[in-house]
Amino acid sequence: MMKIGFFSFTCCEGCTVMFIELLNKKFFEYASKVDIQNIRVLRSNETIGSLDIAFVEGAISTQSEVKKLKEIREKSQMVVALGSGAANGYPSNQRNSFDETRKKEIAPLVKKLHQLDEISPISKFVKVDDQINGCPVSEDELAVKMEGYLKKFS
Ligand code: SF4
Repeated sequence: MMKIGFFSFTCCEGCTVMFIELLNKKFFEYASKVDIQNIRVLRSNETIGSLDIAFVEGAISTQSEVKKLKEIREKSQMVVALGSGAANGYPSNQRNSFDETRKKEIAPLVKKLHQLDEISPISKFVKVDDQINGCPVSEDELAVKMEGYLKKFS
């Protein structure tokens, strides 16, 4: 069984939802091949065990997210940036390019939410083995990628 987990940082969780959509077609195939350890939209499991693949969605915006991301990296053979947020920071990173006036306007909120000065893709903090782009990712591309990962980890 290929052990996987889905982890969501600063994002709308739409890319994990695309995986749930994919299960409409692939549930019975994956049921015997894939062990989903973590997937917040379906069940809560705060424990991060050792994984073959960690799918990470969302950009990184706080120090606590950096810490958790590093833990995920340590425990996973492969880290996949799932969607543009994790891969390149978009759309959460739009505030990086706000003008000074707008930055001053949002500063109290940034402080209140303990956010870092800049929103970053996950590759700023950990090694990333693969990425699936899109906001959200396409179900078809996700299916093709899963096929490749299953060959690698079966
Ligand atoms: S890449 Fe877009 S759709 Fe996917 S989780 Fe991030 S914001 Fe949502």
